[in-house]
Amino acid sequence: MRRPWRHAAFTGLISLLGVVWYACWLVTGAGPAAVGYLFMPLGLLGAVAALHALLRDAPLDPVGRRFWRTLEVAGALMAAGYAVLAGAAFRTDPVLPPMPVSAAALAGVGLLLAMVAVAMVPLGVSTWYERGKQWLDRSIAFLGCATLLWHFGLVPMITSPEPWSTSVLAVVLLAFVFAAGAITKVTYIAGGPVDRISVRLVAMTGLTAAGVAWLAVAHSADGAVPAQAVFMPLAPLLLALAVLRQRYASATPPRRTGVWLPYLAVIAVDVPLAQVLFGHNDLSDGLAEGRIVVSAAALVMTLVSVRQLVINRDNARLLREREASEARLLHEAGHDTLTGLANRRLFRERLDAALATGDTTVLLVDLDDFNAINDSLGHDVGDELLTAFARTLRAAAGDAGQPARLAGDEFAVLITAPGRDEEVAARIMTAIAAPIGAHRLLVHASAGIAAAAAGTPASQLLRRADAAMYTAKQRGKANWVRYAEGMERPAQADALLGGDLRRALDAGEFRVFYQPLVDLADRRVIGVEALVRWEHPERGLISPAEFIPAAERTGLIVPLGRFVLRETTRQAAAWLAEFGPEVLQKAGPNVSVRQLHDPDFVADVRAALADSGLPAEHLVLELTESAVLRGTQVLRVLHEIHDMGVRLALDDFGTGESSLSLLHTFPAAIVKLDKSFVDGIELDEPNTPAAEARQAVARAVVQLAGAFGLDTVAEGIESGEQAERLARLGYTVGQGYHFGRPVPPEDITALLAAQRRLGLAA
Ligand code: C2E
Ligand code: CA
Ligand code: CA
Repeated sequence: MRRPWRHAAFTGLISLLGVVWYACWLVTGAGPAAVGYLFMPLGLLGAVAALHALLRDAPLDPVGRRFWRTLEVAGALMAAGYAVLAGAAFRTDPVLPPMPVSAAALAGVGLLLAMVAVAMVPLGVSTWYERGKQWLDRSIAFLGCATLLWHFGLVPMITSPEPWSTSVLAVVLLAFVFAAGAITKVTYIAGGPVDRISVRLVAMTGLTAAGVAWLAVAHSADGAVPAQAVFMPLAPLLLALAVLRQRYASATPPRRTGVWLPYLAVIAVDVPLAQVLFGHNDLSDGLAEGRIVVSAAALVMTLVSVRQLVINRDNARLLREREASEARLLHEAGHDTLTGLANRRLFRERLDAALATGDTTVLLVDLDDFNAINDSLGHDVGDELLTAFARTLRAAAGDAGQPARLAGDEFAVLITAPGRDEEVAARIMTAIAAPIGAHRLLVHASAGIAAAAAGTPASQLLRRADAAMYTAKQRGKANWVRYAEGMERPAQADALLGGDLRRALDAGEFRVFYQPLVDLADRRVIGVEALVRWEHPERGLISPAEFIPAAERTGLIVPLGRFVLRETTRQAAAWLAEFGPEVLQKAGPNVSVRQLHDPDFVADVRAALADSGLPAEHLVLELTESAVLRGTQVLRVLHEIHDMGVRLALDDFGTGESSLSLLHTFPAAIVKLDKSFVDGIELDEPNTPAAEARQAVARAVVQLAGAFGLDTVAEGIESGEQAERLARLGYTVGQGYHFGRPVPPEDITALLAAQRRLGLAA
């Protein structure tokens, strides 16, 4: 776009030259007056050039393009008309040349075209309703405007002592109608393809032309020259400015304009109305001027009333919409979008209100292992589970309490019916005993109940409920516990421990110890179990029984387990290389359920094997029954591991409820008989029925394993008699203090070296 303002500058210069020339001509009288007729056609040429450049360079949409194209044609016609007039001025009378018919025709058609262009500019409103309202407004404004023009413009002409000729009156009337129409139309252009200001500037060119016409007529001979040289060229200048404005116009959203015009119209009709009613005009006037004014005023009032009605209706609708959106906002501020339950904020408000008036009971519920489900099955399934649980909770709360979702998988019920808290808790536990939601997931939840007297701070009541819930989790999950004095302490200790574990893992305070697995027939080491130890800088060696549960609750078991897995495979590969496959048939780390839910678990195992070079069949992962019983997802992971060639051992076998049925579905290779069945097995005459039962289990397990083709390991062997008895029952591999405690890897290395020497000696 090359200097788009240059055309406007040119027309401006022409206007200026016109003024300067006229001043010189007035003072000196030099040169022919016909020169004054050159400025209008020259200025118009500049405006046409501006329009041409705009159409060539600027991006316009079809409607805008049509508008400016029409104006370009109109401008060119007018330029031609005024050029013809200038020619006539040079040839004939320089001051007041008779307008040649061709010139009048060209200029007239040009002007008409320009008016058509303005009339066709769209108003920038889209709906029928909006368009209707705008027509109503425009009609009111038009009526007001027309009444004024009629009363003050036409009537004096008609009633003057020397009445105007009918043809002139007709032209003036037409001009009035056009003027009133144009003013109202232009005021209501809201925006859109043609810039609002541009249209107004174009409309002003029309007004300028009208003004000049009036000037020329009123002052006839003396007016012609200044009109042509000074006033007329303003019209092309305005046109060029309109073009310039369109160039820099940005697409603005339509806005409501001219809202005030109807009110102005009411005031406007009041003036002639007052004159008709109280003035000297008398109503019986032959032209019935009074009747026309009164009718117009009445019509305007009626239309304004209609408009008021419409606006009232609009306002009522807006008000309704606003109320609805406020109600929605209020609801959203207090509710959880996923489940639709009250959120933490609303819950706290209700709790505060309840505590202010009386004794209050709160039930906190937390889904056990929700993070694991979320991680392994994806967030959509997790969300669905939360929604399903929310429904369960709502049903369980019934009319006894108000359920809320506090965060993630943490829910609460504010008990509103005193004494019914246990009923609600029991209903929750019963409801989730069966699978819930579209995915039929089996979830467990732990709940804590706490009550407080009126005036207790809400935070204290919540802390107690939390401690109770925590205790429920520690007692094996899937149940509920009522708060009792002192329950906060373990929760706090656990939180401390959780932080400490993270630090310890980063500081490398964990070590892996190994306990030998021996062949019961010849007492030779055939493998190891890996058991983690925490070498605490102050507290010394800490047993896993103390920190594994906390690591599982905090999720730290995942990185910790990964460390143990890496360490075990690395160490096992080293022993395998040094001592051969006979002594290292199995190396077994323990794996928690949380790890099985970790989406990276399978990849971790594969990488640990690849990086260490340990053949998969030497790795044994020890899992407890409860871990294995965690649904199809876990089962899929276990099958993937099994397919890799890694063996799976069922740890603490015999202590769970479903040991037997497990052997069908689970790809186990080894069962480890729990220590509790080994204790007392050496006694020939068991002293209690319980001891007798334990012996029976030990026998049954080995037979079962044989039937399923599984290897067995007897755990916790503390004496030679036990070892002997177990060997006689059919157990082939044993583990326990009798053979060796869990020790650092160096000690195992020494043990294996000694065993090799003995073997060589034998
Ligand atoms: P577990 O898997 O049943 O491990 C056997 C536990 O019994 C070990 O206790 C071991 O030291 C102990 N034990 C072995 N032989 C005898 C014996 O003859 N008599 C007695 N009284 N105890 C014996 P530890 O090392 O304290 O580990 C406790 C539990 O912590 C383990 O039970 C296991 O469930 C868990 N654990 C240990 N390391 C890890 C680990 O790296 N990851 C996971 N997830 N859990 C681990
Ligand atoms: Ca184990
Ligand atoms: Ca065990």
